[in-house]
Amino acid sequence: MKKHNFNAGPSILPREVIEDTAKAILDFNGSGLSLMEISHRAKDFQPVVDEAVALFKELLNIPEGYSVLFLGGGASMEFCMVPYNFLEKKAAYLNTGVWAKKAMKEAKAFGEVVEVASSAEATYTYIPKDYTVPADADYFHITTNNTIYGTELKEDLNSPVPMVADMSSDIFSRPIDVSKYICIYGGAQKNLAPAGVTFVIVKNDALGKVSRYIPSMLNYQTHVDNGSMFNTPPVVPIYAALQTLRWIKAQGGVKEMERRATEKANMLYAEIDRNKMFVGTAVKEDRSRMNICFVMAPEYKELEADFMKFATERGMVGIKGHRSVGGFRASCYNALPKESVQALIDCMQEFEKLH
Ligand SMILES: *Cc1c(COP(=O)(O)O)cnc(C)c1O
Repeated sequence: MKKHNFNAGPSILPREVIEDTAKAILDFNGSGLSLMEISHRAKDFQPVVDEAVALFKELLNIPEGYSVLFLGGGASMEFCMVPYNFLEKKAAYLNTGVWAKKAMKEAKAFGEVVEVASSAEATYTYIPKDYTVPADADYFHITTNNTIYGTELKEDLNSPVPMVADMSSDIFSRPIDVSKYICIYGGAQKNLAPAGVTFVIVKNDALGKVSRYIPSMLNYQTHVDNGSMFNTPPVVPIYAALQTLRWIKAQGGVKEMERRATEKANMLYAEIDRNKMFVGTAVKEDRSRMNICFVMAPEYKELEADFMKFATERGMVGIKGHRSVGGFRASCYNALPKESVQALIDCMQEFEKLH
């Protein structure tokens, strides 16, 4: 049976990315060696990093003066690296979910943290709009897509201070104005690569402004100076990331990714809104295109397990909602084909007919 992969992360990647990476694992560039057996400093590997960096810059239209880094540690490591490198006195955070909260928690170890607004009281079903970012903050931290709650900032905000963004789960799903940010980071395992590599886009002249000592591994400058080769980078995930970046470019770039994401999300939200058995959890204006969260309508609540079984039997994978939201979450990342969204919609319609 065909599987439709709605996993929230690690998640679906384009088939050709997996195949090309599998080939390189067996034989890298016809060298007779596996990608897993070569030095990251081998002359054949440097071009992989160089091309991945170049494609990041090209696809996201990154201005001069920024570096692209491939690190370990996941987005969670960046929760601490960001304040380590940028927080001198005060930082502002928008609390839009568990990940935002975790980022805020780490920052508190380094200085004053201002929570400008929070939607915690409503289980993060919306993104706060009315708040003031202190003009003397070192940066304003946002989470552009809240993977667990299915809310998304679909445009770059205006902020009186430079922004830092966790874009783990919506990177490459829309064009971004990178010039508004001093740092954009994310774990690659949602929309880019298998787990193991973290991408960081950092503005070079924003570095070196804090007075504390920063341990070498946690200092962005170290990785800028060493082209992500200060220590052994995650070679296989970087190789896979390069294949995804090539794929995105071949498909038409981030504008095309955005068009597809909007199309897929509109299809599924239309069904959620039409079908009497389901309701969306996020407020409409903040609905995520990447993670689509819905629950059974109150009068059908007891059929939740039945629908899960029904959908699973028809090839749907990974649609169980996060335990803090319940219900269902269909993650519709770049690599998810429209046909999979249609297959889920068909399931919802068939299930409705049965009841
Ligand atoms: C998954 C996720 C994280 C955590 O990423 P790790 O790489 O596992 O540390 C952080 N932020 C967001 C928005 C996520 O979706």
